[in-house]
Amino acid sequence: MHCGGREPRPSMIRMDDDRANLTAEVAIVGFGPVGKLLAVQLGQRGHDVVVVDRQLSAYPLPRAVTHCSDFARILQSVGLAPDEIPDITQPYDDLYVWRNAARETLLAVDWSGQGESGWHNTYFFHQPSLERRLDEVIGGLESVRVLRGWDAVGVSQSASNAVLSLVSTQAAGKARVSARWVVGADGGNSSVRRWAGIDWHDEGYFYDWLVYGAARADGALDLVAGFCAGLRSPAAAVPTS
Ligand SMILES: Cc1cc2nc3c(=O)[nH]c(=O)nc-3n(C[C@H](O)[C@H](O)[C@H](O)COP(=O)(O)OP(=O)(O)OC[C@H]3O[C@@H](n4cnc5c(N)ncnc54)[C@H](O)[C@@H]3O)c2cc1C
Repeated sequence: MHCGGREPRPSMIRMDDDRANLTAEVAIVGFGPVGKLLAVQLGQRGHDVVVVDRQLSAYPLPRAVTHCSDFARILQSVGLAPDEIPDITQPYDDLYVWRNAARETLLAVDWSGQGESGWHNTYFFHQPSLERRLDEVIGGLESVRVLRGWDAVGVSQSASNAVLSLVSTQAAGKARVSARWVVGADGGNSSVRRWAGIDWHDEGYFYDWLVYGAARADGALDLVAGFCAGLRSPAAAVPTS
């Protein structure tokens, strides 16, 4: 899969003192793929949206690598259907094979075929490139403002609105966004979820993984997604090009 892509249109807005109190219909905390997709969905319908993210730029390396037919349908709804972005997203019409250390097959999960929407059941994609394309779409939406370099540190609410408190990650600035709705799209360590009192059950799974890209010297590609359960060195492999 080709990982390049056009540079996104700059979407960072500096918030000066006179803009330190913003109002919006919807304030979204988190400008990862979930926050971006929601901002596009709302912005394309003309809603006034402010998105805040503590990072100045998107995480540059792949994290999520595969998605299903339902997500393909959501991408289609914002003009980024898989067949429109073949340089970023490609269907995978094969098995996901689990092997033991001797490379004997333990389990073969069928990831082939199409879902009810007509899109493939499985796609592999390059997350940073997809996020850049979403940035480009958002850059063309007048009603979406993106504030990077601002940490959401608290929320309060009244009968009519909610107020999001922000602290600059770059300087000593503070700011507030008043909105009818505040949405937490702030990832696995979500603060918004905590502020909303939503429970979270953590199984405690944590392991260090080494993630690397590899190409065969002879140029041949083994396009089989697989997991090798060697006791000392379990490894997962997925096609990315
Ligand atoms: C090694 C690795 C492999 C992965 N593989 C897969 C996979 O195969 N499939 C899959 O579906 N997922 C995978 N994931 C998870 C993947 O990263 C997530 O699915 C995806 O990024 C989630 O998107 P998101 O928008 O919910 O959150 P994120 O991408 O985490 O974005 C959240 C954003 O919120 C911002 N933020 C957080 N708190 C605040 C705050 N208080 N104020 C302001 N901003 C804030 C963060 O800076 C971040 O930009 C993987 C993750 C890792 C690390």
